[in-house]
Amino acid sequence: MTDPEKLAEKYLHSMGERLIDEGDLEEGIVLLQKAIDVGDTPYAWRGLARALEMAGDSAGAVGAVSRAIKAAPGIPEYYYERSQFLAALGRDDLAGEELGKAIAIDPNYARIDAITRAAGILNEAFEGVFDKPSCPVASCPAYCCHFKDRMFLHGVTIGAWKLNALREYFREKGLNEKDLLGAFPVAGTEGTDSLFSPHDIMKYDGTASIVFPRRKGHALGADLARDIPKGRRYLSLMWIDDAARPCCFLEDGRCSVYRVGGEPVESCSSFLCMTGFVFTVLEHLGMLKKEWLDGASMAHLNQAAVEALIILGGDVYGSEELEASDPPDEGLKKKLLDQAQGKIIRLF
Ligand code: SF4
Ligand code: SF4
Repeated sequence: MTDPEKLAEKYLHSMGERLIDEGDLEEGIVLLQKAIDVGDTPYAWRGLARALEMAGDSAGAVGAVSRAIKAAPGIPEYYYERSQFLAALGRDDLAGEELGKAIAIDPNYARIDAITRAAGILNEAFEGVFDKPSCPVASCPAYCCHFKDRMFLHGVTIGAWKLNALREYFREKGLNEKDLLGAFPVAGTEGTDSLFSPHDIMKYDGTASIVFPRRKGHALGADLARDIPKGRRYLSLMWIDDAARPCCFLEDGRCSVYRVGGEPVESCSSFLCMTGFVFTVLEHLGMLKKEWLDGASMAHLNQAAVEALIILGGDVYGSEELEASDPPDEGLKKKLLDQAQGKIIRLF
C-alpha cells in the first residue's frame, strides 16, 4: 500500500470501529469491508469479526477472525476470540483447542478474564489522574517509541507549538530539521480531518501537511521483540514488532525531546503500555520501590505488572466491600492498599 492508501485504510477501519461501538453495525460493517478492499490488514478482519458476532453471525465471525489469524498468526487474542465465536456456535471442543493456542503463545490467557476485568477496573479508577506521565520503567528499551511504519501512520504528529519549540532546540544543538522531521502533504487524502487534529495540519514547505519524527535505521530485533509488553487493556500493541524502528528522538531508551517546550509530543502521551501504566499507578500510590526496576528483565516486569494489576484491580479497586461504601470508605481503602502492598512486594 502507498502512504495515501494506508491512510485511507486507517480512516475506513477506524470509522468502521467507531460506528460499531456506537451501535451502527450495518454501516460499520460496510466501512470495514471497504477498508479490507483497500488493504488486507489483520485488525480490519478482527474488527469485522467482532461486528459480525454482534450481528449474530458467529459463523461469519469465525471466518473473518481466521483471516486475521492468517495475516498475523502470533496474536493470542485472535485465537481467544475465535474460541469464543466457536463456543457461541456450540463447538466447545474446537473452542477449547483455540483457547489452548492462545495460552501456548501467552500463558496469561489461562486467566484472561481476571486480567481484563482488573484492567477495566484500574483504567476506570485512574482515568484522567495522570496528565502525560513519564513512564518510570527506565530499564525498558522504550518499545512504545518503536514503529513498524512511518510514524504519522501510527498517529504520531508534531503540532505547531511543539514544532516551534523543536526548531529552537535544533538551532541550539546545531541539528538539521530535515534529518529529524518528515512532512506528508494531506490535501486530497480522504479522512484527514478525522485522523488528525486541525492543530497538526499546517503549511510546511508551502503545502498543507502533517509533520512527524523520522525513524532511525536499526530494527528492534527478535531478541528484544520477545518481551514487547501489552496495551492497557491487555491487547497486543499492533504498531510494534521485531522490524519496528525507533523514533529518531529516542536516546538510550528515553525521549530526548520530552521536555522541549515543557510538554511531550501530544500524541506520544497516549502510548503508555500495560507495564508502564501499572508502574505509574504504583508510583502514584507511593508503592513503587525504585530498586524493583534496577536490573530486572522486561519479561519479569511485564509479568509482575500483570500480577500487580490483578491484586490492585481485584483486591482493592474492585473490592465489593469498597464498592458498597458510599461515599468511598477511605480508611477501608487504605487498609486494602496496605494489604495489597504486602502482596506486591513479594513479586520482586
Ligand atoms: S510505556 Fe511501556 S513500552 Fe513504553 S517505556 Fe514504559 S514500560 Fe516501556
Ligand atoms: S517523540 Fe519522544 S516520546 Fe514520542 S515517539 Fe519519539 S522518542 Fe518516543
